[in-house]
Amino acid sequence: MPVSKTKLATSELLDHERLNALVNSMADGVIAIDEAGMIVLSNGAALNILDTNGTLRGKKLESVLHLVDKNGQKISLTEQIQSTRTSLSSRDWLIRYDDESTANLYVSAAVVHLGYGKSGQRGYVILLRDITREKSLEEERDEFISVVSHELRTPIAIAEGNVSNAILLAQKAGIAGSITDTLQATYDQIVFLSHMINDLSTLSRAEQGTLALEIEPINAHDLVMDLVRDYTPQAEEKGLHLTHKVDPRLHILRSGRLYVREILQNFITNAIKYTEKGRVTITAAPYKEGVQFSIHDTGIGISKSDQERVFDKFFRSEDWRTRQNSGTGLGLYVTMKLTRLIHAEISLKSAINKGSTFTIKMPNLDT
Ligand code: ADP
Repeated sequence: MPVSKTKLATSELLDHERLNALVNSMADGVIAIDEAGMIVLSNGAALNILDTNGTLRGKKLESVLHLVDKNGQKISLTEQIQSTRTSLSSRDWLIRYDDESTANLYVSAAVVHLGYGKSGQRGYVILLRDITREKSLEEERDEFISVVSHELRTPIAIAEGNVSNAILLAQKAGIAGSITDTLQATYDQIVFLSHMINDLSTLSRAEQGTLALEIEPINAHDLVMDLVRDYTPQAEEKGLHLTHKVDPRLHILRSGRLYVREILQNFITNAIKYTEKGRVTITAAPYKEGVQFSIHDTGIGISKSDQERVFDKFFRSEDWRTRQNSGTGLGLYVTMKLTRLIHAEISLKSAINKGSTFTIKMPNLDT
């Protein structure tokens, strides 16, 4: 063999060994498969997670990794990753062992080229991590939040009612100035607290998967009219016009009434909150087998980079105009959870200083 080729072969071997050492030193399980789902590489941590000590090379991924979702439905990871173009990740699947015991897994997979150059075959690298302990801590936390927020609801509702009465009594008695102002400020804070508790309660139930979905016929036209009536005072207080456009061909939507309403309310409250002048428009039109709602505002808008993050938990824009308004950054996160529950899709178009449009496509659900 010519010298250069031998050198190349030696350096490739070295590279290969280094790579092997690196992959084996990782705490996460690593498995590489080819396009047909056959294992070509794995590390020690993967053997631990799969609870096997035999070699994995040459075996079908599906024959050694038995994944199920939280309802016990079988998941084919090979099919899932073959249908994704770039990468996928999930914290919601479990591995099921032969003795029927399970463990929660973090799974992520990405497309790679196995080998060098153009001829390098396409494949996938899968990362596995046992997150059973983290999951059970998360579940305990969600359970705690759920109980606490539920228990806080009654005293807060009573306080809201009492302060509201006190404002009326003070007004009737002709007491103006600092007492009424203080009562009003207290009332506003109680309302804020009650929204926050509502969000937390919905959120913890969504994360525990205990939000029940009751499918009912919803008259979309009446729903929009109700929302316009309920939110007009809030909009007018800020000098905004709350308008609506409802397509007369609109049909009945079969979905979860409470969730549909809560999703739209969250978008409307935000539209009013983040708009200084102009209008907020609620639109409803038929779409395929369902209804498409849009909430458009002429407000401060959302920058391109923030648009990717508005649905993240606790995200609030750094824009000072956002920070002028109180908020928790939970509203849109909860909204996204509810949207998934009713199989709806959200899209967002926005430009800074021009305004935002959130569009929600809600399908008809089967009972
Ligand atoms: P918050 O309690 O802060 O309103 P949300 O989860 O409802 O939390 O919204 C997250 C962030 O998204 C807001 O803080 C704001 O920065 C941005 N946002 C949401 N809706 C709008 C809107 N209509 N116009 C401009 N910014 C918005």
